[in-house]
Amino acid sequence: MLNSQKICIIGSGLTGSTIAYLLSKLKLQIDIVDDNYKKKISTKLALSKSSLDQLHNSGLKEIKKKSNPIKNIYLYDSYSEINLEKDLKFSSSNKEKVLAYIIDSTTLLSHLNKNLRNLNNINFIKKKISSISDNNIFKTITFEDFSKKNYSLVILTSGNNLELLPKINLKTIIHKSYNEDAYVFSLSHKKIINNSARQFFLKDGPLAFLPVSGEKTFVIWSIKKDSFNKKYVSNKNYLLNFFNKNFKELFKDINSVSDISVFNLDYVFNELKEFKRTLLFGDIASKIHPIAGQGWNMTLRNTFSLVKVIKNFEDLGLEIGNNIFIEKYLDEVKLNNFAFTTLIDGIRKIFDIKIDGYATMRKNTLSIIDKNYFIKNNLAKVADKGLFI
Ligand SMILES: Cc1cc2nc3c(=O)[nH]c(=O)nc-3n(C[C@H](O)[C@H](O)[C@H](O)COP(=O)(O)OP(=O)(O)OC[C@H]3O[C@@H](n4cnc5c(N)ncnc54)[C@H](O)[C@@H]3O)c2cc1C
Repeated sequence: MLNSQKICIIGSGLTGSTIAYLLSKLKLQIDIVDDNYKKKISTKLALSKSSLDQLHNSGLKEIKKKSNPIKNIYLYDSYSEINLEKDLKFSSSNKEKVLAYIIDSTTLLSHLNKNLRNLNNINFIKKKISSISDNNIFKTITFEDFSKKNYSLVILTSGNNLELLPKINLKTIIHKSYNEDAYVFSLSHKKIINNSARQFFLKDGPLAFLPVSGEKTFVIWSIKKDSFNKKYVSNKNYLLNFFNKNFKELFKDINSVSDISVFNLDYVFNELKEFKRTLLFGDIASKIHPIAGQGWNMTLRNTFSLVKVIKNFEDLGLEIGNNIFIEKYLDEVKLNNFAFTTLIDGIRKIFDIKIDGYATMRKNTLSIIDKNYFIKNNLAKVADKGLFI
């Protein structure tokens, strides 16, 4: 039986920290390397019920209390004008049931960190990596101070930072720009019953409302780089007027708008040319449009698959990180990931077609789906648990 195999996780964002937490329960020594532990930008994440339940069951008991449950999801086709009449509705079948949760990313990250810092098999390293090399038995990381460490497996979770990629031989399968940015901010409003997530498909990009509390709603507004709508996000007063004019019926009085953060949106799917004891996770592996709030949910599903494969190898007394291990993990996730990211890109494309006749057909299709229990039920299952191919 091989004891305490060593793993290196590069990146201490949501992905790196969650993988470290979930793997810490196995017989592994884990180093988390990050050269920049600065405070991360706070955003709100929609986590599917299944994702949050699995995190809860793995010991992160507090996060359910700190998140806001979603009982309804409403889609509005607002191609020609903003229209508050729902085109597609998903609602929980009974009062207790929840469809998803909204959680603050920094709350989740600090909760993970609090847990990680108390664990004996987790070691944080704040150093720059200068090279990554391999021999048959280990992956060797050399740090800027010339110290070296050997690992059975390296998990790269460095998000948008591509600087390490020349060191690991990456193959970009897809890199497509949506030519749009996501503007994210919170609205403070009068107290309402706030348990419905809403997505408005505007001509120039989707506008999503994620309920945070009775008096707060988070907005993710994807806007084409050349769109007239950019005028609204250039000034908080314009924004306040825009939301009060168009959405007063939903939020009563909107009093203020928080600071705005901006994210460039693209669709990325990366793979390694040679795996050699390395796996990619999180945004460095694939980045998808936030239209369905699925990016990190997919990463979580991959993480649970990784835990399952490692546990299986541990139980059989097998070494992790070698080619057989990597192939076993990729067999679990590769096809699903590719199909799922393609599906999300397809959804974005469908709502990006600016032909009036097509827009009418799209609206009609939404209301047909709304009346079809079978299709709706299956869509809800895919949003909750992903595809199973
Ligand atoms: C507008 C928007 C809304 C979204 N909404 C949702 C949603 O509702 N639901 C959902 O599931 N997903 C959502 N997502 C996706 C989700 O936010 C991301 O998938 C997730 O935050 C990515 O986390 P990460 O840890 O992979 O990357 P990051 O958070 O970027 O972390 C990368 C880490 O790696 C470190 N690092 C970088 N380079 C190095 C290096 N050379 N050496 C060491 N460390 C390094 C960095 O310091 C950082 O700590 C959304 C995304 C956007 C843009």
